[in-house]
Amino acid sequence: MTENQPKRSRILGRYSQQSPGPTLLVCAGLHGNEPAGVEAAAAVCRVLAQNNAPLRGELICVAGNLAALADKKRYIAEDLNRMWTPEQIAASRVRDPSSDSVEQREQREILAVIDGIEGRRFALDLHTTSGSTAPFALMADTLANQRFARQIPVPVVMGLEESVNGTLLSHLSDLGFDALVVESGQHTAAVADDHHQAVIWIALVAAGLLRAEDVPALGGLRRQLRASTAGLPAVVELRYIHPVGEGFKLPDGWVGFREIKKGEVLATEGGKSIPALLDGRILMPRYQSLGTDGFFVVQAVRPWKLMLGRALRRMHLDLLLPWVWLGVSREPGPTRGLRVRTHRIGRVLRAALRAFGYRRRHKDGDDTVCFQRKG
Ligand SMILES: [Zn+2]
Repeated sequence: MTENQPKRSRILGRYSQQSPGPTLLVCAGLHGNEPAGVEAAAAVCRVLAQNNAPLRGELICVAGNLAALADKKRYIAEDLNRMWTPEQIAASRVRDPSSDSVEQREQREILAVIDGIEGRRFALDLHTTSGSTAPFALMADTLANQRFARQIPVPVVMGLEESVNGTLLSHLSDLGFDALVVESGQHTAAVADDHHQAVIWIALVAAGLLRAEDVPALGGLRRQLRASTAGLPAVVELRYIHPVGEGFKLPDGWVGFREIKKGEVLATEGGKSIPALLDGRILMPRYQSLGTDGFFVVQAVRPWKLMLGRALRRMHLDLLLPWVWLGVSREPGPTRGLRVRTHRIGRVLRAALRAFGYRRRHKDGDDTVCFQRKG
């Protein structure tokens, strides 16, 4: 840490009127080179206090990686957004705090805040990206998260949360928070702060902490986000991950959500062209929090498919899959799982598994085991 930098405290702001209601946890700066969310969260808390806003429940804003924020680095020793697996959290609870690494200490303090939150719980985890992009959200695929996300007017990327292990989002989702990650644009873009503030205000209303009439700027904030995501689908689904190879390079200046056509050259790798394998949109070119991924291809999800998926899920029709589909059986255990003969997974079954939210999957011999999140 260099001198003259103000030392931030873990709690960026906390606001309540001692009136019962849900809690909205806002985490910002989990990556130290992403200060936009930190400024935005503190600004919203200041405005709430100045206006003596009639809030139900409580807004709690926490800073993520304080040491890395002070150093303006993504992290010091370890990515703080890859340390939230159940095993790492369990280890943290029994470890002597004096033997914590820098990020383990950060995690311990954030965990203490999370552990203290009870009742109906919502969360936003605010990030920015290295490449230029329209704002968007990620979430674990549960009906509750879909409901929360629908109220924030930015595109939602489905399937990405499940492809990364150890995120704070994943831990919060496991605890039953309705939780979203919001990527508000490029680290250095001035609008990233504005977008984050807009998302927090809209989330305060969506989560029921404020009434719409208590946020006079609400319409303008929604318009601001809609304008910056104009022309983009409301929901996209991850369809392809390109792992980084030797000498991987994307063209300069590409912007997230750029439309791509099958066959179009997207990148080069050791002098070889990498063509798109499918139509869609390219996302987060060289998204740095996923060190081994070069790019993603996402495709729009039609609204009727989402509606149908939600209806089928509410009826728990996935419970019938082992009865009606050859090669599908129920996986025993506390979480909802299905075991599928991998060679049986065709287009229709894959679509059905996605619609029912069975997005976490791993191979086990000739089988693929898929899990659905609660909620
Ligand atoms: Zn980040």
